Amino acid sequence: MKSGYDLVVIGGGTAGLVSAAGAASLGARTALVERDKLGGDCLYRGCVPTKTLVKSARVAHLVRHSEEYGVKSGRVAVDFPAVMDRMRRVIDAAGVHDSPERFRELGVDVFLEGARFEAPDLVAVDGRRLKTRSAIVATGSHPTAPPIEGLEEAGYLTNVGALELRRLPRSIIIVGSGPIGSEFAQIFARFGSEVTMISSSSLPLPKEDLEVGEILRGVLLADGVTFHGGYRAEGVRVEGTEKVMTVRNEAGNEIEVRGEELLIATGRAPTAGGLALENAGIEIEAKGLKVDEHLRTTAPNVYAAGDITGKYLFTHVAEYQARNALRNALFPVKAKVDHRVVPWTTFTDPEVARVGLTEEQARAQHDFVKVFRQAFDEVDRAMPNGEKTGLVKIVTGRRGKILGGHIIGPDAGNLIHEIVLAMQGNIPIQALSTMIHVYPTLSQANQRAADNYYREKLFTDRTRKVFSIFFGTRRLLQRG
Ligand SMILES: Cc1cc2nc3c(=O)[nH]c(=O)nc-3n(C[C@H](O)[C@H](O)[C@H](O)COP(=O)(O)OP(=O)(O)OC[C@H]3O[C@@H](n4cnc5c(N)ncnc54)[C@H](O)[C@@H]3O)c2cc1C
Repeated sequence: MKSGYDLVVIGGGTAGLVSAAGAASLGARTALVERDKLGGDCLYRGCVPTKTLVKSARVAHLVRHSEEYGVKSGRVAVDFPAVMDRMRRVIDAAGVHDSPERFRELGVDVFLEGARFEAPDLVAVDGRRLKTRSAIVATGSHPTAPPIEGLEEAGYLTNVGALELRRLPRSIIIVGSGPIGSEFAQIFARFGSEVTMISSSSLPLPKEDLEVGEILRGVLLADGVTFHGGYRAEGVRVEGTEKVMTVRNEAGNEIEVRGEELLIATGRAPTAGGLALENAGIEIEAKGLKVDEHLRTTAPNVYAAGDITGKYLFTHVAEYQARNALRNALFPVKAKVDHRVVPWTTFTDPEVARVGLTEEQARAQHDFVKVFRQAFDEVDRAMPNGEKTGLVKIVTGRRGKILGGHIIGPDAGNLIHEIVLAMQGNIPIQALSTMIHVYPTLSQANQRAADNYYREKLFTDRTRKVFSIFFGTRRLLQRG
């Protein structure tokens, strides 16, 4: 082990791994400190396991509906332990690149212990002190629970416990209808649990465009989820093998819901316990570490990346921020982070993808807003696929400038990137219409939505009149 590092990275999730690998590849003396296993939330408790379950749930759903495709199948039986075994195998396979050995081979000193600041340039690890020029804090976030009377006594799951279940619950109450709550609701419903969702907002995915939330609610109901929108959880007690939760809406109506299990998916908080941030002069706020546009914390040589910054809690953002933090931590010329065009996806079926402003946000911030839509039930590829639910919705400002894109539909997480690139490159919606798209593909939904821009501009009564005068005059001239 060396003493005197160029960079000490604390936290071995996505942000930490990207930072450490990048720094070592650039020839910097790098240490990576992780108190659990390298890989972090995405690998063990987030993206990878949930997307594996999403796939199993889709297969169950598809088999149940196979006759719609002319394929007969028997009674569907979800073998939950087998599903969870597959999930663990996928985690193992996805995690091979995150082993301490691989990072050591890259030249990183890996410490599998908790880290603690003694000073901005001094990190204590297992009785050792790592002296460093710069540091990156990448310690992520953890689930939180709202104040609900009796919650601790009754016991509850978060994403962590839900992914450790050995038996499929007969019934489950899910509190929270953000991405995590919505994905789990559909997963458990398709596996065969009776799912009751409690959402303080009237629609699921409250941060998304209202039209999108409306469609997703319909999808969840069709999957058998009972959705109580506009209700807050007040208290919970145990009765026999069930948890009984009292929920109330704004009008004061109170109902009781029951479930064998209770999953709380209402929010996340920054993980900073044990870091002794005060020893380094690093300030923390409710959502995350206080950082500037260079991701620099209030300690001049300490940067932050990933969920700990409290900004856009997604793996792709953690990776993007890590690249910036790494560059700024190692070199004197500082790059600014640019969070203007950040896409994300909720992996329900259909998926919900989004970039930029919702229609409501755009109307609040801009005086000129136009919205162009294309429903998937009119898209040629969606019809043979039997995946006709959803729409593409593109929100524009003046001269076709794209302010936001919203897709609820098949493969939305992939389809959104065309709109992301357009926004990033300041390419107006017209280009999505004139660009040749392969037939028949789902991405034609983007093109058809954009076609409406021209349809609105060109196919008006006025242009029809002007053109018919032009054609009439040309016919007259040709006769003469
Ligand atoms: C259920 C669920 C599903 C998700 N699905 C998606 C998805 O589909 N797509 C997507 O983009 N995002 C998804 N996310 C979010 C994604 O998982 C996070 O945004 C991402 O993991 C953040 O990475 P990170 O490196 O900031 O933090 P983490 O991955 O949490 O890593 C932080 C690491 O720091 C370590 N650590 C903490 N304190 C210390 C300390 N004092 N000393 C040493 N080590 C420490 C922790 O042990 C941990 O390994 C999901 C999250 C959840 C919960």
